[in-house]
Amino acid sequence: MNVYDSERMAEILAPLGYRTALKPDEADLIILNTCHIREKATEKVYSDLGRIKEIKDARIAAGHPLLIAVAGCTAQAEGEEIMKRAKYVDMVFGPQTYHHLPEMLAQAERRRSMGGGPGRGVLNIDFPEEVKFDYFPEISNPQGAAAFLSIQEGCDKFCHFCVVPYTRGAEYSRPAASVLKDARLLVSKGVREITLLGQNVNAYHGEAPQGKVVWGLGRLIRALAEIEGLERIRYTTSHPKDVDQELIEAHRDVKKLMPYLHLPVQSGSDKILKAMNRKHTIAEYLAILHQFREVCPDLVFSSDFIVGYPGESEEDFQATLNLVKAVHYAQAYSFKYSPRPGTPAALMDNHISEEVKTERLERLQSLLREQQTAFNKLMIGRILPVLWEKPGRHREQLIGRSPYLQSVHAELDSSFIGSISSVKIAGATLNSLTGEQLTV
Ligand code: SAH
Ligand code: SF4
Repeated sequence: MNVYDSERMAEILAPLGYRTALKPDEADLIILNTCHIREKATEKVYSDLGRIKEIKDARIAAGHPLLIAVAGCTAQAEGEEIMKRAKYVDMVFGPQTYHHLPEMLAQAERRRSMGGGPGRGVLNIDFPEEVKFDYFPEISNPQGAAAFLSIQEGCDKFCHFCVVPYTRGAEYSRPAASVLKDARLLVSKGVREITLLGQNVNAYHGEAPQGKVVWGLGRLIRALAEIEGLERIRYTTSHPKDVDQELIEAHRDVKKLMPYLHLPVQSGSDKILKAMNRKHTIAEYLAILHQFREVCPDLVFSSDFIVGYPGESEEDFQATLNLVKAVHYAQAYSFKYSPRPGTPAALMDNHISEEVKTERLERLQSLLREQQTAFNKLMIGRILPVLWEKPGRHREQLIGRSPYLQSVHAELDSSFIGSISSVKIAGATLNSLTGEQLTV
């Protein structure tokens, strides 16, 4: 979502004469778009800011001013703190305010021309009533054949470990007509694959194009599939609790919907799921996977896992390993629990030691790597359609994505970029597949 947000910010700034600089030391404005989900992401903000300050000092010494902005969820959560800790930052603004970027920029420039200095930065961490999507300029320049499209934002679930409901705010779904308009525009500019984005994308409940009804994600996907020229649809991230029959049936009927589903479960233990406030059990999660597999036997799953949540016993962790063994994931992300300020889990008194978290994460990741490699190796000998996205590291090599979101490399000339064509899979590793051009 931050990639999508950064693209929108670039588009908002384009009419003011800004374009993307190739190197930070050539920039007049540096926006650090930040993440707050785990402590590591937040620490990185301050170390990156230290480096950016050196660039600012060097530019000022050479007679060129440079503005520094911090955007995104760390800006939202730590606004004042950033201003205090890094006084050279000119602007701090949250994810719901960046449609105001031109005004904020003008204000920052005015303050700088008046001498700038500590305490003069522009801070905006409001949750405005107006909807930022209504203020974005038309999508002008998609980055390639595969694009992101935000349809939902924020979250009302309040899992006990998570900062999203506080940093991104309450759940909001864009009206279907405006999503469809953006999708048609992307396709007219050469996009072949759209990934629908939302912190809780399948909680989507957008106003229907006609009348007062509301569309769920399944209905929206059916409408998007009618767009000629759009060949692949994906969506991320979904919550098990929000899976409904309509979404399951979309996987049965809509051929453009790719057979890969990221459906995070976080833990294999019902006790931990309850403590996390995830609002479903393992039996319910497995029943959902079963329903998906019944209608779409080709569908593969990916998940997020948190290890070392407060109170997680060795037995709870074993339950996570057992779940992984039962499901066979094609891919997964796993993290050590990271206490986040202001969340209920951070206040619990049964935290797990760092050593135990590290050791459990290693065990889980080793199993997940094994499953991912095994899944990739299953592809050897198969013919897979690939959307070719960009040149690879070697000459005449392209990189693209399979329907299962695997990265595929093949020797092909660059005229294939932006199109889908099939290759025969000849090799597979943990992270990628090698394809060979079909001989006719
Ligand atoms: N809405 C999605 C996830 C959004 S956050 C869902 O409910 O599944 C992305 C992932 O970051 C989460 O799935 C979780 O695995 C991880 N995460 C969130 N907060 C975390 C924390 N405090 N510590 C470690 N991982 C966390
Ligand atoms: Fe965070 Fe996802 Fe839970 Fe919402 S549903 S609180 S985004 S983990």
